[in-house]
Amino acid sequence: MVEPGIFCMPRHELKANLHVHTSFSDGSLSVGDILNDPSRRKLDVLGITDHETMKAATWAGRHAGVLVLPGVELHHRHNHLLVYGVPASALVSDEDCPQRAIDAVRVAGGASFIAHPHDRNCPLMPEFCACPWTDLDASGFDGIEIWNFMSRWKAEARDIESAIERIREPVKSFPGPEMETLRFWDESSRTRKVVAIGGSDAHGHSFTYQGNTLEVFPYWLMLNSINTHIQLDELLPPGNDAEAARRVLAALKSGSSFIAHDNLMEANGFDFRAEIPKHGTTQYDSRKASSTALSAGGDRKHGKSGNEIVARNAGESSMGAQPQYPLRMGDDTTWAGDLELVAECGSFAHFRVVRNGETFQAGTGYTFSCLTHGPGVYRVEVSLLLGRADSGAADPDARPTFRDNYNHDVYPHPWIFSNPIFLRAPGWLSSPAATVDDSAASQARC
Ligand SMILES: [Zn+2]
Ligand SMILES: [Zn+2]
Repeated sequence: MVEPGIFCMPRHELKANLHVHTSFSDGSLSVGDILNDPSRRKLDVLGITDHETMKAATWAGRHAGVLVLPGVELHHRHNHLLVYGVPASALVSDEDCPQRAIDAVRVAGGASFIAHPHDRNCPLMPEFCACPWTDLDASGFDGIEIWNFMSRWKAEARDIESAIERIREPVKSFPGPEMETLRFWDESSRTRKVVAIGGSDAHGHSFTYQGNTLEVFPYWLMLNSINTHIQLDELLPPGNDAEAARRVLAALKSGSSFIAHDNLMEANGFDFRAEIPKHGTTQYDSRKASSTALSAGGDRKHGKSGNEIVARNAGESSMGAQPQYPLRMGDDTTWAGDLELVAECGSFAHFRVVRNGETFQAGTGYTFSCLTHGPGVYRVEVSLLLGRADSGAADPDARPTFRDNYNHDVYPHPWIFSNPIFLRAPGWLSSPAATVDDSAASQARC
């Protein structure tokens, strides 16, 4: 087991950019040109999600070390849905009933993620109109794209000055996810596992302003912007691209991943896990974990008796299978006593542990750990702390929130968002997974 506080590379990590457009739709480069671009060398997985077409399927497989994961962005006006692992013949695109698109993906065994659900208008350029998700009661999707580079950039381009500033310094001025989207994700996660991904929405855009054409978001910048880092227990099998893609898709659906703004600083090596406390008063019996719970009268406060474990009837677990410790991002299991949450990254940072959508614990350092407090959906947000000189075009009104070890003012920049560790209350039952049979009922809302 890894000692808390020691930076480590816990598992095999793949850096994926899952939302990329090409010349198959409205991107400026072909898949081949993107793969030849040096920027792709920082990626392990390239998700091609052209608008309403899966022509990129011909590129499925590994190319010079990059696994191309063909997908599609389904939409009409609103309700953009990122889809992977489904043949074009199984896709359904219905503007009036996005639930039909989700259901078709689920039936075909693929993965669907709601893209930029709270997308807003671009105040400066009205032609960049809002493309939000309008059916927030939809069900059966695997997850949500919580952080989309282009969506966040355009929403913050309030006037020409701020747009130029944000084009000049697109990295350090970049905002975190929409708060509404985080709330939507947290709320959805209370009833079932909902996985978060991030994406660049790269197009290789050019803009013409006062007669000059400017490429403002080239692929080399975008492919290292908002990425999804996938953790795997094993290396991908060499020579079997279909199996490699299947494992990547399975890891994405499981939530074994985190989202990071890699252009701010490479986030490789970040980890968030839940370990059995070393100093609990009672030995934590992992063999009983799927069928154990705190006694009803137990003291749930941290420390002393907070880790007391008593056996309860086997078979009551909502998850069934015995959990493996430490728990990893995306693990969804029955709470069987408080665990130690450990987060670590490669830079001095601010950690905010979120439980059920609320701030639970926070602190600064290279690592952060705390005990859980009963069942809950636990995740962590990490902000990179930079000095004023390094903060570039950070909001000029920003005030230093923290001081580093040398007592210098430092400014937080949203950097990493983990997927949650889901610790469900004993007896908790996930909201029933939608089935093919009930898809008609869900579509009846449309
Ligand atoms: Zn979109
Ligand atoms: Zn897109």
